[in-house]
Order: sequence, then C-alpha cells, then structure tokens
Amino acid sequence: MTEKAIIEVKKIFSTPKKIVILTHINPDGDAIGSALAMYMYLKQKKHTVSVITPNGLPSFLQWMPESDKIVINSNQADDANKLMNEAEMFICLDFNALNRIEKLAEAFIQSNASKILIDHHIEPENFADFTFSITGASSTSEMIYDFIETLDDLTMLNKEIAECLYVGIATDTGSFSYSCNFSRNYTIVSKLMEAGIDAEQIHRLVYDTYSEDRMRLLGFCLSEKMKVMPKYATAYISLTKDELKRFNHQSGDTEGIVNFPLSIGNVKMAALFIEKEGHIRISFRSKGDFHVNSIAKMYFAGGGHKNAAGGNSQLSMEDTIKKFINLLPELNFN
Ligand code: MN
Repeated sequence: MTEKAIIEVKKIFSTPKKIVILTHINPDGDAIGSALAMYMYLKQKKHTVSVITPNGLPSFLQWMPESDKIVINSNQADDANKLMNEAEMFICLDFNALNRIEKLAEAFIQSNASKILIDHHIEPENFADFTFSITGASSTSEMIYDFIETLDDLTMLNKEIAECLYVGIATDTGSFSYSCNFSRNYTIVSKLMEAGIDAEQIHRLVYDTYSEDRMRLLGFCLSEKMKVMPKYATAYISLTKDELKRFNHQSGDTEGIVNFPLSIGNVKMAALFIEKEGHIRISFRSKGDFHVNSIAKMYFAGGGHKNAAGGNSQLSMEDTIKKFINLLPELNFN
C-alpha cells in the first residue's frame, strides 16, 4: 500500500459505513477466512458489515466463528440483493475477476459504492477504486493481517479473527507446504498463536472431517482413476457425474484430491477433471517452477497461481482430456 492509499483508506474507515464483503464462488478456506476476519475487524470499528458469497460453504468450514452470519446468494438472493443495493462500500477478497462472483457482479458493477480489492491472484482486473494486489502473498488472509497492522489496529486482533486468518493461510499453503517460503509467513502465524489460537485443533476441524464416502472416493480416484504419464511428469484424475453419485458426492468431497498425485516423486503437474452440469471443471497443481496458471488461462478459460490454478472446458470429458494430453509435449517440465 502506498502512503497516499493508507491515508485515504484510514479516512474512509474512520466513519461508520454499510460495508459488504464479497468473496468468490465455491469459497475455500482463504476466501471464508479472510472475509470473516475482515467482518469481525470492521464490526469492532463500528461499521455495519455483511459477508456475501455466491454459493454455500463446504462443511469443513462451517465451524468457523460467525460463519452462520454469511449471506449465501444462491439461497438468500433477496437479502443479498438488498445488502448489495444499500452498500456504501464493497471489499472484494480472494478474487480479482468479476466472473468469480457470478450473478452478484451485475449489482456490483451498477453500484456507486467505493470498492476495495485485496487479493493475491495474478493479473487483477481493474474494477476497484483501491486495488491491493500482492501475488507473492501466501494468501489473502495474510494480506488481511498486514492490512490490520497497516491501519494500526493489531490490538483488535482477537482469537476469533486469528482463527480465521490461520485457516486461510494454512489451507492456501497446503498446510504450509507451498507459497510460504518466507520468514514473514511464520512471523504472522506466530502472532496468530499469540492471539490464542489452537492450531492443532484447527487442523483437525479442517482436515479430519472426511465422511466414509469421501474417503472411499479418494481411494477410488487414486487406485482406479489416476493416470500417470512419466514422460511428461504429469498425472491426472477424471470423475464423471455417475462416479460421483456412486460415492454419494457432497459439496467439498473432491477438495484436495488434485494434490495427491504430486506426492509421486517424478510428477510435477497434476490435473483433476470433474464433470459438472454442461461443462468440465478442471483443477491444476504443480511443484516448483512449473507454472500451471498459464495452461489454465491459455487453454481452459481459467487462471490462478503459479502452482494452483483452475479452468473449464465445454468439450466432453473425453475430448477435454485429449486436449490436455495433446498439450503435454509442448510443455517444458525441467
Ligand atoms: Mn487465496
């Protein structure tokens, strides 16, 4: 943040406002963690605050403090609409392209409210009055810590806010295994510990929540569906609607599956193809300096980060996988 932006933002927050915090569709730990932390922080600053998400939270995040206050547009469109229309300020967290908030984008564009974006994805769109973009940050949650610190408000960082920020940092770094190679990441985590969080308990709440069906779906993916292509240091998994149905698929059940093939020594890129209504949803992960963001963006109408990205395909599952495999000889896996 520039000196000038800090002064302006401080001024904006100095009088009570109606603030709406927005985050992306299929919200993950960082989206919900950063949004709820910001929500609790701004409430302490006497603002009228709400969090709106395009759709619901996965069950492993439903324990989070104040998560029951989130207005979910797919269930509560009237409430969301009213809040969007009355907002004096929007704070956009953990996304930087308006298609990530789906139907909420229209009311957002039409609103004259001031707009702040805080995010760590590359190449932000220009839709906010203030854009705080740090692509090297581990997570948006880490940026919220910095934001609170910059506004001289660390005394407001209580245990609940710290829990939310920890969830965001832990989940966006794969439990501290990527995007967190700086001492600053751990300095912040240590401050969150000092605020009273129980990091071990948070890991249990976030990760040790599989249903039997979800665990068996993971087993099925790894044993029956994973294809490894050593020549291209690549592995992929595909799941059809019927296969998901067989394991009584619930929202969030495929979360994290794409990371498993990367634990194979020679695999540098992993992809997960999931059949959705009318399209194929694709997740990409990589290790080290191999960029999956560019593949997602150039070939699958998506984007993301260097080591984690996502996209979509309108082709059939078979043709989508063919398209992906045909790209592999062009890629450089060194
Ligand atoms: Mn994030």
